[in-house]
Amino acid sequence: MIYYQVSIFSFVLLLVTDITSLIYAADQKSVDIHLEPPYQADRSSIRPSISHAQKKPKPKFAQKMHLISSCNGSYVKTNGTTCGLKEIMIGRCYEYQYMKYQLFLTNQSNVKNCTQLYQAFESAVRYKPYCNMNMSTYEKYFQLALSGVHVINRAMFWSGTYGVTHAYSADGANYITLEDTLAAAMANGLVWCGNENHTDGFDFFSCPNNCKDNRWADLAFWGLASKTFAQLAAGEIYVVLNGSHANDRPAFRNNSYFSDFELPNFRRTGEYRVTKINILLLHSPDKNVTEKCGEKSLVQLENLILAQGFQYACKDDPEELILIMCGNQWKARECQIARHVLRQAWDKKLYGTSLSKRNSHSFLLVCLTALAEIFFLVKF
Ligand code: NAD
Repeated sequence: MIYYQVSIFSFVLLLVTDITSLIYAADQKSVDIHLEPPYQADRSSIRPSISHAQKKPKPKFAQKMHLISSCNGSYVKTNGTTCGLKEIMIGRCYEYQYMKYQLFLTNQSNVKNCTQLYQAFESAVRYKPYCNMNMSTYEKYFQLALSGVHVINRAMFWSGTYGVTHAYSADGANYITLEDTLAAAMANGLVWCGNENHTDGFDFFSCPNNCKDNRWADLAFWGLASKTFAQLAAGEIYVVLNGSHANDRPAFRNNSYFSDFELPNFRRTGEYRVTKINILLLHSPDKNVTEKCGEKSLVQLENLILAQGFQYACKDDPEELILIMCGNQWKARECQIARHVLRQAWDKKLYGTSLSKRNSHSFLLVCLTALAEIFFLVKF
């Protein structure tokens, strides 16, 4: 009983004194410097501009100009093709090849012609009704953009973990995601659809994004992108999954791009075959754990991977990813002790000692609480 009381007492003390003082101390030290994450940790939609726009009522004057490009003159936000699609894509292509990602190209003499690439993209979609698209629509574009590329031991896939995965892959410096390839980087986050009645051949007012009678139209670009990227991955690959989805949504689910277009397309034979699939399963701070490695959909995934002849490994929350999650959600309950320990380590690095005695006392209390709770659990 005494252990129970010690535990409860310490825990309450921790709550009223330690956590608040830690937050206070940390906030004091960082004064007015706030590093806001550049995007949400987990991008629920890969096309945030569409989903935001869909919630907004259509601008009245825009309804009248459904056959006029909203991109001429002043900019009007619509549900249609992104204004400046061509310029953005060609600009991204130049930036990718000459500034950012040249190191990823296996053969650095293999520089692509950006105008030609855009033309391959445009001829697949311009003047074409959106719902007529299918999985071969963008074949030429992907062939041109990705020919000669192999991603060896560094390919990273994701499902339900866009933000954390891309923070971790660090624009290709650590790992290479689909979005770090030229073909996907040129189009990522953009919206487009053809319109046979429009002088530009694109619909700048509204894109359906949901063809009831032709599911392949919606999957045409990103489905083929995912499939092609999976075929380029070799050696050990990495997949970052979300083990804290709400509403019992599994970490690995049928009908995801990962399950339908990536997993079935990893090479099993030849020089550029995949050897091992490493699953990194994340549990978001302040959210419930719905699945761990070795449970539920992870068992299903393991069986599928082993049946294809790949080695399988699964790790819950690798430290480097915990740090990224806590970096994005540094006020979360699970991140407080880490914040404190890091503060002390940095004080020591800067000043040779920890500045705050109060922080040391708080930390002792944190440790005591943890010990008391462990003791209580073991005892009872
Ligand atoms: P996810 O569940 O996080 O979905 C990613 C996006 O695709 C979300 O916006 C989701 O709403 C949409 N989506 C998912 N399944 C869909 C379906 N059946 N029909 C229409 N839209 C669907 O993760 P995921 O589905 O596994 O896709 C991520 C993987 O696929 C990554 O490994 C990536 O390589 C690739 N991918 C990238 C993009 C992109 O825009 N960059 C888009 C799709 C797929």
